[in-house]
Amino acid sequence: MPSVLTQTKENFESGRRSPVREERLEALTQRIGRALFRRLRSTAPSFWRLEKVEDSFMKLMMRDEDLRFRMLQFVDVFPALGGTRSVSRHLEEYLSSEEMGSGAGHGPLGRIARHFGRDLPGVRNITAATAQLAITRMGNHFIAGHTPEEVAVRIRSMEARGFHFTLDLLGEFVASEAQADEFARRYREMIEKFEDLLGPLPDALADQPHLQAPPRVNLSIKLSSLTSKFDPMDPEGTSAAVRERLRPLVRAAREHGAFINVDMEKYEFRETTLRIMLDLLDEEEFRGFPHFGTVAQAYLWDAEESLRWLLGELAARKQPMTIRLVKGAYWDSEQIWARQKDWPVPVITDKRLTDAMFERCTRILMEAAPLVRTAIASHNVRSVARALALRKMLSHPPEAFEVQMLYGMAGPIKDAVLRSGVPVRIYTPCGELLPGMSYLVRRILENTSNESFLRQRFSEGAAEEKLLASPHEPGPEDFEI
Ligand SMILES: Cc1cc2nc3c(=O)[nH]c(=O)nc-3n(C[C@H](O)[C@H](O)[C@H](O)COP(=O)(O)OP(=O)(O)OC[C@H]3O[C@@H](n4cnc5c(N)ncnc54)[C@H](O)[C@@H]3O)c2cc1C
Repeated sequence: MPSVLTQTKENFESGRRSPVREERLEALTQRIGRALFRRLRSTAPSFWRLEKVEDSFMKLMMRDEDLRFRMLQFVDVFPALGGTRSVSRHLEEYLSSEEMGSGAGHGPLGRIARHFGRDLPGVRNITAATAQLAITRMGNHFIAGHTPEEVAVRIRSMEARGFHFTLDLLGEFVASEAQADEFARRYREMIEKFEDLLGPLPDALADQPHLQAPPRVNLSIKLSSLTSKFDPMDPEGTSAAVRERLRPLVRAAREHGAFINVDMEKYEFRETTLRIMLDLLDEEEFRGFPHFGTVAQAYLWDAEESLRWLLGELAARKQPMTIRLVKGAYWDSEQIWARQKDWPVPVITDKRLTDAMFERCTRILMEAAPLVRTAIASHNVRSVARALALRKMLSHPPEAFEVQMLYGMAGPIKDAVLRSGVPVRIYTPCGELLPGMSYLVRRILENTSNESFLRQRFSEGAAEEKLLASPHEPGPEDFEI
């Protein structure tokens, strides 16, 4: 496993593929991308069809850099906060801080409140509570429900429309072994009980037998939630502690026919996370377990190197696995953490290169079928179109591919991809708002960032040609179709 960054921008770019093959692939990508955009036009006039409060909150986040920065600071201290009371207090402190010296009510919370007073004429008596209400409304948009029962209602309606799901239990940081036990207990409960909560498989899924191959109940877990001492400096101790709580989960998944996906967290945890998974799959009783998956993050300079290493390990073990390819959710934070520790920044800082890395990793993954099932997790029409084009050109087995998107995001894009006959799985968070604050803030930052595909398409109205441009050579502005 590479433990230092060996992939530089130069040797990353030098690995481009042959132009002829690339041309055919590019032409097909453009055709599929345009077809997806046509379907988007026919489904909804705008992504930002959020309720007024959420819509307005997103606009504020797009123009208030200081507020974005404070949100980021809050996420940074989040792991150090113990209980929900402490989270609540810190949230208040970060958002209402008057350190800019501009007087009472001029901190970020005051600005959120005034913003709503201006944008929402019906709202009077602007208070901190109004601003917090806006945050709660944002939470309701991105979080499917507080309890498994509430989430099951949402999932039933998603399944009725033909979507698959993966559950995410909110709350990422555990401060004690008792909390880790509680996480393991709740994960297990979901594996054992969720199918009963859902009831019979709806016709929209029952009519597509080849899509049913992976289990219906699919759980995304974070290994750092299974111990309070997730320590990359002690991989063996961490692996032993995590596997203690992971084993009963995988046994339950085997017994109840469920799927377990190990999410990828910050860069510092990646090596240990992969190590733990392989250690578990090397144990006699779990060898060859097919309903297991993990995540590769394309925004890392060494993404390709790490992916190739993992595929080699799986091939040597003949271990099947689903790999979800994402760009990566910790882009802003990784830069702050690296600077704090005086380490090299592990994430690519040119969006075009992240997109190009994503496309390269897509191909590497799809060429590893059938050992590997590829899950393309993106709301970016270009990234998805490229994967669909590759699927066609490589005669990729249909059961070895799916697209994944997040709950509360990119509704029309989900519909457009589903209508192209590809399975679409929705990552569905379950839990309370405060433990889920990190998740929520990451979604808000992601949607409102300058580089976000969704922002460019649905808020800035960027041209389709620009959005579909190849991230490879010579550069989006020079690309002709
Ligand atoms: C189903 C699902 C599961 C997920 N699971 C995980 C997970 O386990 N771990 C994880 O880390 N993430 C995970 N994510 C989050 C995912 O990483 C983000 O949603 C994703 O990066 C957004 O990318 P996009 O292709 O939808 O949008 P785009 O708008 O095309 O890309 C945005 C992404 O590009 C990158 N980026 C932004 N600015 C720059 C820049 N200046 N230079 C270089 N790169 C930049 C960032 O990664 C940013 O998130 C998951 C997403 C989905 C849909």
